[in-house]
Amino acid sequence: MITSSRVKNLHPYVPGEQPKDRVYIKLNANENPYAPSPKVQEAVLDFVKNNPEKLGLYPDPDSLELHAAIADMLNKCGGVLCRAQVQGGEVQPAPEDKIPFTVTPDMIYTGNGSDEVLSFVFYAFFDSSKKFVMPQFTYSFYPVYAGYYNIPMDQVPLKEDWSLDVDEMLTRAGRNGGGIIFANPNAPTSLGLTRDEVRQMIKKSSPDEIFIVDEAYVDFGGESCIPLLAEFKNLVIVRTFSKSLCGAGQRLGYIVANPELVNIVTTVKNSVNHFPLDAVAQVSGTAACRDVAYYVETSRKVVQTRDDFYNFLRDKGFYVLKSQTNFLFAKHPSIAGDELYQKVKAQGLLIRHFNTPGIEDFVRITVGTAEQMEELKNCFNKII
Ligand SMILES: *Cc1c(COP(=O)(O)O)cnc(C)c1O
Repeated sequence: MITSSRVKNLHPYVPGEQPKDRVYIKLNANENPYAPSPKVQEAVLDFVKNNPEKLGLYPDPDSLELHAAIADMLNKCGGVLCRAQVQGGEVQPAPEDKIPFTVTPDMIYTGNGSDEVLSFVFYAFFDSSKKFVMPQFTYSFYPVYAGYYNIPMDQVPLKEDWSLDVDEMLTRAGRNGGGIIFANPNAPTSLGLTRDEVRQMIKKSSPDEIFIVDEAYVDFGGESCIPLLAEFKNLVIVRTFSKSLCGAGQRLGYIVANPELVNIVTTVKNSVNHFPLDAVAQVSGTAACRDVAYYVETSRKVVQTRDDFYNFLRDKGFYVLKSQTNFLFAKHPSIAGDELYQKVKAQGLLIRHFNTPGIEDFVRITVGTAEQMEELKNCFNKII
């Protein structure tokens, strides 16, 4: 065979479908229905128009401006956009979210979407001689990296109420010695642990093993673990522009961690590609972070629309988990998940169904604009 033996271990991620045959209302990939801030558009246009020569030069290898802008945004919003307070354009964290120290640029690492960032984090901190622990149902890319890097994994079933089985995760992590990863709030369940629950978890696990929290959805109402970075040197927080910063097309992800861990991930990245995000992504990301107020507003709109749709689903007889994210995870007693997905698709809307045993009754519905969700309500009213 011409392929390496490694290729046999690959099980690539299957993203939410992006069909080209007709225009669907896309509620299947947890994208944000709102465009990025107009300041992002302005900054990118200005950059391309006035600095065309920069497109021919390598970008700043340290991404200093972008890292400073991300740190500044986190300090301003406390790491949870939907709860931050805006007064006269100034943004302040909700009292419960205030970070008890200043996040500095050397605590930030950025990459091409948090998917790439996660890949380097896996390479940097998990070992092929020890199992790492993750929930059975969580972001389905984690097992893909485990295959890619040949790292053994230990998947811990969720509890009956679909929350993480924290005690069992800790027991197994203690036995395996290979670290822990989970999304908080988790996907596709939409449920989160409180910061204090995570704090207790880290306290009970080994300080010599990595503890990774993926906060892709935290801006929609979870509790960020950024404040815990002052207490724990083994904590890595992974975040993305793709959901709450309306930036999935820009491929911007980052970690927040202590500088020593940031340097380790940078070393891994520099061993694969010694340049950072492209120059345009750096400009657009920086502009986004400088307009925090805009994203506080869009996050709030998503949360409001979500809560309204949650009530609709409940009234319609769905079993729905109480979401802290920009999606709802729900099942109906009288229609199978796959059938519901198919019927909705036939009406021109896409939601997500996973053929995974254990969650095959559910559908995952991304929260779109209020208008899009009205369309989905009409659709559900016809079907059910
Ligand atoms: C969407 C998502 C990501 C990936 O985001 P990108 O930055 O677009 O690569 C990572 N983790 C979780 C849990 C997600 O849902």
